[in-house]
Amino acid sequence: MVKGYAIGRAAIMGAAALEVNHYRIQDDDVEAECQRLQRAIEVAAQELQTLIDTLPADAPLEMGPLLEVHRLLLEDPMLSQQAGEFIRERHYNAEWALTTQGQILAEQFLAMEDDYLRERGADIRQVIERVLRVLSGSTSLLTNLESVNDSNDPLIVVARDISPGDMLRLREGRFAAFLTDLGGPTSHTAIVARSMNVPAVVALGHLRSLVRDGDMLVADGSSGVVLVNPSPKVLAEYRERQADYLRERKELESLRDAPAVTLDGFNIKLEANIELPEEAQMALDAGAEGIGLFRSEFLFMGRPDLPTEEEQYLAYAAVVKTMAGKPVTIRTLDIGSDKTLDGDATVATNPALGLRAIRYCLAKPELFATQLRALLRATVHGHVRILIPMISHMHEVRAALQAIEAAGRELNARGVPYTRNYSVGAMVEIPAMAIAIEPFVEALDFLSIGTNDLIQYTLAIDRGDADVSSLYDPMHPAVLRLIAHTINAGERAGKPVAVCGEMAGDARVTRMLLGLGLKEFSMHPQQLLDVKKEIRQAHSNALRVKVAAALNRAQRIDLSDLS
Ligand code: PEP
Ligand code: MG
Repeated sequence: MVKGYAIGRAAIMGAAALEVNHYRIQDDDVEAECQRLQRAIEVAAQELQTLIDTLPADAPLEMGPLLEVHRLLLEDPMLSQQAGEFIRERHYNAEWALTTQGQILAEQFLAMEDDYLRERGADIRQVIERVLRVLSGSTSLLTNLESVNDSNDPLIVVARDISPGDMLRLREGRFAAFLTDLGGPTSHTAIVARSMNVPAVVALGHLRSLVRDGDMLVADGSSGVVLVNPSPKVLAEYRERQADYLRERKELESLRDAPAVTLDGFNIKLEANIELPEEAQMALDAGAEGIGLFRSEFLFMGRPDLPTEEEQYLAYAAVVKTMAGKPVTIRTLDIGSDKTLDGDATVATNPALGLRAIRYCLAKPELFATQLRALLRATVHGHVRILIPMISHMHEVRAALQAIEAAGRELNARGVPYTRNYSVGAMVEIPAMAIAIEPFVEALDFLSIGTNDLIQYTLAIDRGDADVSSLYDPMHPAVLRLIAHTINAGERAGKPVAVCGEMAGDARVTRMLLGLGLKEFSMHPQQLLDVKKEIRQAHSNALRVKVAAALNRAQRIDLSDLS
């Protein structure tokens, strides 16, 4: 889901697969029908190639590879050959043959164990949609756009699913929201909608069959609620909510260039967490003072192979260049636990406690060295802060530092340029490190507290397990003591300490974190202004006294006491 309200008229996106004619063809027509299918596949593949070749510079980075996957699926004989058989043997028309084969393939994908492959079922469906559109001779995505467009109301796209290619086309259309029956939080619809700052609700189930072109819709991207033809009273209520939301956003926008300074004059640094290079622009737009966490694993996930040194270098360099002198913190690969590499069949007994993050990288020196070389090469464009995740032992810090040195020597030997313009820090995510923090502070240039994992490991709560999620408690005094201990050690040694877990972006706990002495916060760009607003209304010293008093007695902190 993508936050925000939209009120407008439905513009239904045709799902050709739901509307194809099924008929049998004559013996004499078999060859012509096979050719009709083959030609349509070729045209669809050509359309995709054109999209790839003319990808707008500001399109989300994963768009190119996604379109390439679609093009490859079209070339795969499992689609065309088997559909051709249905035409020859059963005399199905081309559309029928194609959808039948599509159904078979989608079911095969759906039954697969591997998440990545299962998701490819959606790609098959989208690719077939494209070929069906060619077969029908229709080029427009929104069949009745003209008639709907008569009114001056904004338009809301309602679709079964939206392929990456179609999303690129719709991007031009200035739609007020996107609503789809299929998809998940990381589906292309959500990704592109977020990059356009337009509300989206996905996985709605059967909306498309319930809505007609021109119906009045209300979409609430925050709660995922969609209302169809609401009563005038409800509509008025939502118009008010939308206006309030926009007013609040506007008020917050005005804080974009305001300093994040407390009432008693403490300057707080607000940085952004990103997962893909192009999000760096979002971070700048939100007024971030740097990138506090670039989760590099997203370059590695959702693909069958590993990114090359060159590919990684280009991604890291792009962020450094975009941030133009502002600090950029890039975390080395944090894989294992909830994030796995495709094609890596090793499943640990308990992945959260297994070969994860730095442990994984040290066990795969070549993979680690490739990433480190790419990171060092990015220093040619500006300062790079290398952040090592999941550290628990000092010998891991030493091994990581040695690996960085070795990567530099390798670049020297190859005559590839890099500079010494980098610093090395570690994530504080494991209680053992937080408790015995002093040598780590000494050996490293900076620390960043990953509260998401620190909470999981302190409370022995699997962060991905819904059955115990009620026990996942960021406010547990043990967690807060570990955070406070780390911040204090950093303060004493004059080394920066940030928090980059979800807590940093939760405006409800901003005052509490200030009370713990935190001076650097890193969060999703969208959360930045809410947090800044809290900071500008807080009195840091008073908060420190209150929070310290509660923590000394290991008492729970009542957030309402801090407001
Ligand atoms: C964390 O653990 O708090 C963190 C920022 O890392 P991730 O959520 O990627 O594990
Ligand atoms: Mg973590």
